[in-house]
Amino acid sequence: MKLRRVTVYAGSYLGNSLSYLEITKKLGQELAKRKIITTYGAGSQGMMGELFEAVVENNGFICGVITRRLVAVEKPPQKLKNLHIVETMAERKEELAKNAQAFVVLPGGLGTLEELSEMLSWQNIGLHQSPIGLLNVDGYWNPLLSWFKQAQQKGFIEMQKPLLISEDPSSLLEKLENNLVSDS
Ligand code: AMP
Repeated sequence: MKLRRVTVYAGSYLGNSLSYLEITKKLGQELAKRKIITTYGAGSQGMMGELFEAVVENNGFICGVITRRLVAVEKPPQKLKNLHIVETMAERKEELAKNAQAFVVLPGGLGTLEELSEMLSWQNIGLHQSPIGLLNVDGYWNPLLSWFKQAQQKGFIEMQKPLLISEDPSSLLEKLENNLVSDS
């Protein structure tokens, strides 16, 4: 099965290392090259903004979902043609997740962590089957991965599906495609 629709979760800040910027650009290029329809949080700043620019520069297709209140804060790009404005954060998350065959998580902060955590916990209780991939650039997510390992060892998490991890967007998208399930 082909990977056609991906939702990307990413920080609203850029972080303080060029590696984050580079990986975001590379992910945008890969998504465009593979003609994947990308959905993201509709921001114009930080990692989200860079992702948007990279997809558009490479003639890819990208949609954004944001709440009415956050429009003034996260400022959707003017060039974003496919913008869906919703009322609540719950609706935004639902819209972001709704049509995703797979999820990619870039470095980010609390919002990104919340989105990752929700998709993982929903996957674990069988609410969706879409594979989740973490772009672990420069070991950004290592502390979280250690916690996951510990939580599994201590008997608090039983992962139903593996969390896919890579430092490289192309190989992460390959892994996600290889882990697609037919009804996701
Ligand atoms: P951050 O990773 O904190 O920079 O935020 C990334 C994106 O997540 C931004 O678009 C935030 O609006 C969004 N966000 C912030 N808090 C939450 C939350 N509790 N649930 C879902 N998304 C959130």
